[in-house]
Amino acid sequence: MSNPRPSFFESVSRNFDKAALHTGLPKGLLDQIKACNAVYQVNFPVKVGNEYQVIEAYRVQHSHHRLPTKGGIRYSSHVNQDEVMALAALMTYKCAIVDVPFGGAKGGVKINPKDYTVKQLEKITRRYTTELIRKNFIGPGIDVPAPDYGTGAREMAWIADTYMTMRHGDIDGAACVTGKPVTQNGVKGREEATGRGVYYGIREFFNNKEDCKKLGLTTGVAGKTMVLQGLGNVGSFTGKISQAEGDINIIAVSEYEGAIYSEKGINIQELIKFRKETGSILGFKDTKTLENRSVALELPCDILVPAALENQITADNAPRIQAKIIAEAANGPVAGDAEEILLNKGIIIIPDMFLNAGGVTVSYFEWLKNLSHMRFGRMEKRFDENLYENFASVVESMTGKKINLLQRNILTKGADEIDLVRSGLEETMVNSYQDIRELWKRKRAVKDMRTAAFILALNKISSDYLALGIFP
Ligand code: NAD
Repeated sequence: MSNPRPSFFESVSRNFDKAALHTGLPKGLLDQIKACNAVYQVNFPVKVGNEYQVIEAYRVQHSHHRLPTKGGIRYSSHVNQDEVMALAALMTYKCAIVDVPFGGAKGGVKINPKDYTVKQLEKITRRYTTELIRKNFIGPGIDVPAPDYGTGAREMAWIADTYMTMRHGDIDGAACVTGKPVTQNGVKGREEATGRGVYYGIREFFNNKEDCKKLGLTTGVAGKTMVLQGLGNVGSFTGKISQAEGDINIIAVSEYEGAIYSEKGINIQELIKFRKETGSILGFKDTKTLENRSVALELPCDILVPAALENQITADNAPRIQAKIIAEAANGPVAGDAEEILLNKGIIIIPDMFLNAGGVTVSYFEWLKNLSHMRFGRMEKRFDENLYENFASVVESMTGKKINLLQRNILTKGADEIDLVRSGLEETMVNSYQDIRELWKRKRAVKDMRTAAFILALNKISSDYLALGIFP
C-alpha cells in the first residue's frame, strides 16, 4: 500500500527539514522556528435567514520572532487547522526571504462565500474581527491580516472599520489590516501586487541565459507559452501583466467551471470581462473547451502557473505534467508526494514562498503608509519635478535645442505612489530571486530552488534568534 499523502503542514515541515540539513543550526533552534507559536480556533454563531449557523474560524501566528505577525485571511469551505498552520508557516519564511520585518500568520473562516449574501458576509467578517480583537489577535503592532483566497479589499475595509470602532482613538488603527481599498487607507498597487510579483519572478528566471539553456529555452519571457490555473486575484493579474508587459502567450486557462485552450493565445483582459458577463470562461471566442479543468495542467507549455489552491499537482498527475517550469503563484500547489517526481523529470519549480511574496511586500508598504499617515511621494514629487525641469532647461541652453513636449513630460515626471510601489516591488522580487539563485547555484548539494529559498529564510530567521543570545 502506498504511503498516505502528507498533510499540507507536514509537507511544509518536510521541506523545512530538507533545507535544515544544509544549515548546521542547532536542533532546538530549528524546532523553535518550525513550530506554530499560537493557534486560535473559534466557533461563533451568525444569523443567516431565520436560522443561526455556527461558523468555524482560525487565526494562527506561526512565528513571533518579529512583530507584528502578518498573513491573509481565507474564506473557503475547505479551511481546517492544518491548512491554516501550513499557510502561516509559509508566511514566516516568505517575509524573511523578501526582507519584510514580520512574523508569519494566517486566518481562515470555513465558509463558501458564494453561499452568503453581501450583508451576511459583512456580518461574519465583523464578528470574526471582534473575536480576534477580544483575544488580542489583531492590531497594528500585534497581527495584521490581509486578503487571501475568497477575500478581497471589501472584507479588509470591514475589518478595519470594526477594529477602529472598537479601538476608537488608536491613531494607528488603519494599520491593523492591509489590502484595504485605496479610498479606505489602502495603497495604490496592492490589488495587483501578488500577480505583478509573480510576473517579475518568472521574468527573472528567463533573464538568465544559463538556466534557460539547460531547459532548452531561449532567454527572455517574450513568446513563451503559459498555462494558467485560477482566474481570481492572483491569476488574473499574473495573466494580464504577463501578457501586457512580457508578451507571454497564454495558451490555456483553467477555472472552477472547466478549461479552455487556444494555440494562438487567450486575451486575459477580455476573458475576465467575458466571465463577468456570462459567469463562465467556457465558450470564449476562438477557444476550444477541454475535457475537464484538470487536463489543462498537463498540457505541454513553458510555464505552468497554478494560482488557485494547494495540492493541485500530486503524485497522481505529476508524471503527466509537461511544463518546463512550474511557477507557484498559489500557496502549496505542488503536494509533498509530487515534488520528487517533478524534480526528477527536470522541471524547475519556482517556489511559492518567494514567487507570491509580492502581496506581503506591498502590504508592508501599505502598513508603513498607514503608520506614517501620508501617501508615498507627497513630500518629494513636486521637488523632483522642479529639479528635473531645471536639468532640462540647462540641457536646452547648453545644446541650443528645444526638448519636445512628450520627451519633456517623460524626463520631468516625479514619482507617484503607484510608481514607487511598483519600483519597490520590482526591486524586492529581483533581489530576492538573485539571493535564492546564488544559493541554489553555489551549494552543489542544493538541488532545487525551494530548498535554497528555505535555507535563505532559515539563515535570516535564525540570526534574529541568535542575536538574542537564546540559542548559543
Ligand atoms: P481568489 O479567491 O481571488 O481566486 C482563486 C480562483 O481560483 C477562483 O476564481 C476560483 O474559482 C479558482 N479555483 C478554485 N479551485 C480551482 C480549481 N480546482 N481549478 C481551477 N480554478 C480553481 O484567490 P487568490 O487571492 O487569487 O488566491 C489564490 C492563491 O494565491 C491561494 O493559494 C492564495 O493563498 C495565494 N496567494 C494569494 C495572495 C493574495 O494577495 N490574494 C497572496 C499570496 C498568495
